[in-house]
Amino acid sequence: MPELEWWQWVLGLTLTGVGLLFGTLAFKVALTFNVTEWLERRDRKWEQRIRFCCPHVEVYKENGQFMIRGLMRSPFGTTQAFCTQCGQVFIGGEDEGREWVEYYSRNHDEYFAKMKAFQKLTRKVQKL
Ligand SMILES: [Zn+2]
Repeated sequence: MPELEWWQWVLGLTLTGVGLLFGTLAFKVALTFNVTEWLERRDRKWEQRIRFCCPHVEVYKENGQFMIRGLMRSPFGTTQAFCTQCGQVFIGGEDEGREWVEYYSRNHDEYFAKMKAFQKLTRKVQKL
């Protein structure tokens, strides 16, 4: 191996530096892109999980009694309804909401189990 002149060292090091810089830059761009995609995928996944856990009804107190009412709202002029808590769309409209209210008024335990899971999930998502 022949002895290298000082300028050859400088040139070599500069080229290595430039190469590293571009390499890091390309890596960073690739990483950012993937992270964005991954975040979006994750958001969709969380959204689905939240909708799955949402009971689509709420319990409120009236005259010392616990009552259940649906969270579905039907925008004017449409037959569909959506849950104001999780955004789930119901093709059946508010009628479908009434079915849920009936279902949960018979299955209190299930409502509380779902609500617990729902609150746990939303707390987790807010932390992300
Ligand atoms: Zn819901």
